[in-house]
Amino acid sequence: MLLGVLLLALAVYLRAPLSNYFFRFPRLTHDLTALRAQAVPVQLDDGWTEYRAVVHSHSELSHDSEVPFPSILAAAKAASVDVVFMTDHCIDKKADFSLQWDGLHDTVRFIRGWELHNGLLIWGLASPATLDCGAPLAETAARVEAAGGLTGFGHTEMPRPYDVTAVSAMEIYNIHTDFLDEKIGRILPQLLINSWRWPELAIREIYNRPEAQLALWDTQNRDRRMSGFAANDAHQNLGLRLEYTGQGGMWLHQSNRKSFTDPQRPIGPVMRWMLERLFGPLTPGRELLHLDLDPYERSLRYVNTHLLAHDNSAEALMDALRSARCYIAFNLLADARGFVFFAEDGPHRATMGENIAWTPTLRLKGEAPLPARWTIIKDGEAIARVESRTLDWPVPAAGHYRVELALLVGDEGWLDWIYANPVRVLSAAH
Ligand SMILES: [Zn+2]
Repeated sequence: MLLGVLLLALAVYLRAPLSNYFFRFPRLTHDLTALRAQAVPVQLDDGWTEYRAVVHSHSELSHDSEVPFPSILAAAKAASVDVVFMTDHCIDKKADFSLQWDGLHDTVRFIRGWELHNGLLIWGLASPATLDCGAPLAETAARVEAAGGLTGFGHTEMPRPYDVTAVSAMEIYNIHTDFLDEKIGRILPQLLINSWRWPELAIREIYNRPEAQLALWDTQNRDRRMSGFAANDAHQNLGLRLEYTGQGGMWLHQSNRKSFTDPQRPIGPVMRWMLERLFGPLTPGRELLHLDLDPYERSLRYVNTHLLAHDNSAEALMDALRSARCYIAFNLLADARGFVFFAEDGPHRATMGENIAWTPTLRLKGEAPLPARWTIIKDGEAIARVESRTLDWPVPAAGHYRVELALLVGDEGWLDWIYANPVRVLSAAH
């Protein structure tokens, strides 16, 4: 009787993740598969080469991540990523540009960078530069940009000094931030139950449209060019490890290295008996449990910043991010590679991040690999919607034009897919 009541209570508590497991996710998988099958190669050519980037990424150098560089490389290759902009936390208040991987490793370019406490992200200083992470933000930003590096505002859900115009870019979406606003009692059962069978859909459950960040980005773009990018903020730190230690202890810790037990303290006979029953022989140093709810590769697939450049040198890729010649895409839904968006007037053309003068014959053009809903946003306001795979739309006046694309996915309705940086249409007087 008591067991029955307990099971019923558990089923009620877990009804949402269970309903996803048995009903919604199989249907969604079917709908996404059918949608992805409609992909066609994009014909419209913007003259650029596209590189898939992961921006904001942590390694074992960060206090809250254990992931070594070879594992990052493997995850990046598996997720078809071309470039990783690293952002480790400072070590002893120093950003040491000699510590991380740099340059091309196999097919993946690594760009060294750090995430400072004040929210500034810095990249691309030549080794062996070392910066003081406690220096004033404006000073650091000016120094990095002057030395040919790149800066961006991270975690833009927090207040940042946007009057520091040396900073070129800002996060308009951050996976970690999006995760943190979930109720843990809702999202944890979701991840625990559904990560096994529906890993990509389970993690996608954290998605909320970043309304505040998008509004902030639009405001910034009124007076200056502010490149918007997606932060993977990959840590792989939502997981559990259990190890039988050389000292005969049991080390239960989170994948961010937060310990729940003292690894030095030998375990008692009852615990030993239980562990042996559960995991088999206890040999010193053996890892008994390794569970990751946010594996690195999944964070890298979830969203990407697609950069337009002429080659994959660090300079060219940093220039694309600095110049807003990029768009972000939630590639877990469907691969956006190939997407193009620009303004065109006869022989003149301006892609994302670029300027063009307004004329009565100026048109916004675009093409995506899948049919989508294009929302045209002028100076922060949605002014038109077009449902099509392609876009060809007359530009009514000067302003900053960006597009958002959404995919129609079965019963789920329209799901956000692409946010593109604005093309700047200047009045003829400029
Ligand atoms: Zn971070």
